[in-house]
Amino acid sequence: MKTRKLLMIPGPTPVARSIQDQMGRETVAFGDPAFVKDFKELIEDLKVMFRCSGEVFVLAGTGTMGMETAIANVTKRGDNVLIVSHGFFGDRFIDLCTRKGLNVDVLSSEWGEIVPVDKIREKLKEKHYAAMTVTHVDTSTGVCAPVAEIGEMMKEFPETIYIVDGVCATAGEVEYIDDMGIDILFTGSQKAFGVAPGLTMLWVSNKAMERRKSLGTIPEFYIDFEKWLPIMHDPAKYFGTPAVNLVWALKEAVRLIKEEGLENRYARHKKYARIMQSALEALGFKILAKEGHRAVTLSNLVYPEGTDDAKFRGLLAEEGIMVAGGLGAYAGKMFRLGHMGNIDKHDLVSVIATIERAAYRAGMNVELGKGVAIVQKGLVE
Ligand SMILES: *Cc1c(COP(=O)(O)O)cnc(C)c1O
Repeated sequence: MKTRKLLMIPGPTPVARSIQDQMGRETVAFGDPAFVKDFKELIEDLKVMFRCSGEVFVLAGTGTMGMETAIANVTKRGDNVLIVSHGFFGDRFIDLCTRKGLNVDVLSSEWGEIVPVDKIREKLKEKHYAAMTVTHVDTSTGVCAPVAEIGEMMKEFPETIYIVDGVCATAGEVEYIDDMGIDILFTGSQKAFGVAPGLTMLWVSNKAMERRKSLGTIPEFYIDFEKWLPIMHDPAKYFGTPAVNLVWALKEAVRLIKEEGLENRYARHKKYARIMQSALEALGFKILAKEGHRAVTLSNLVYPEGTDDAKFRGLLAEEGIMVAGGLGAYAGKMFRLGHMGNIDKHDLVSVIATIERAAYRAGMNVELGKGVAIVQKGLVE
């Protein structure tokens, strides 16, 4: 019999049956009154859940489009932008912004560490920055940025738009737009929301909307907030065809989140992450992110000396789990395990047991059952 494959990469994450069912529905006209109502309710729910007194956009595209959309709507050629980078996805903003003719300054940390908030403050004092980007969880390092603390500090710089990449965080890591002083938060449907890939969601403060207005006509067309705003207020209107079935799927994902409770969801992510991380450490893997800055949505696990990455991940796939490889300098030295979205206790026990089998077969010095015992204890505590 073929072993079922659990998708434990940092996105796409496992898609719950009820969400998949929405994808399989018969597609209707985007002007269908029932769909318009669903879309409207979805936008309202996203606003309320994440405490955003500004605007919410749900657009067809991936997380990277969210990055581009955020930048395009609050900056113009020649503006200064500060990029705070904790890895590969933070760095992605460098090329993106440079191509747009923005003057880019970068504050980078060693992989696994964060840029201290004081260092960001000092940099912001040097000159006027139109915007600053921070990646909440950099998927390449598993580092979680102190987004709330940075937001508090940003009160000293009201002219700078605070952009947060939540692609590997939103709906898993704690995020509230107004409370944290975030101007633009964006994510993709396929990570902690647990929907198939294809949607970008953005939460935009009134300050950022004012900035957009002040720019007049921008060069970008499809990703212009002003083109989409009338549709987000009244989805019966047309600008570009909405991804009807994905919108339904996201609406179901939001219904699941409401049923669980967003606070409970945050707590579940934290609990599961800490359990998995201690079990994996006990098996001999080293967590790349320093303690205190570890994400709850994924873990980046450095192999013990001498482990063959291709062999280990190959065996893991054979045993039934898909994980991702390391990026940059950590390619071949690390694997990345997603534990976000709609996963449950069954998944955790199964995942740790499978990692033990693969590690054992790869010749690592592991005691079968050691990680499982830690997960089991964590779950009943
Ligand atoms: C996955 C990811 C992206 C890119 O999203 P795509 O949907 O692949 O375009 C951007 N930022 C972070 C932090 C991510 O994890």
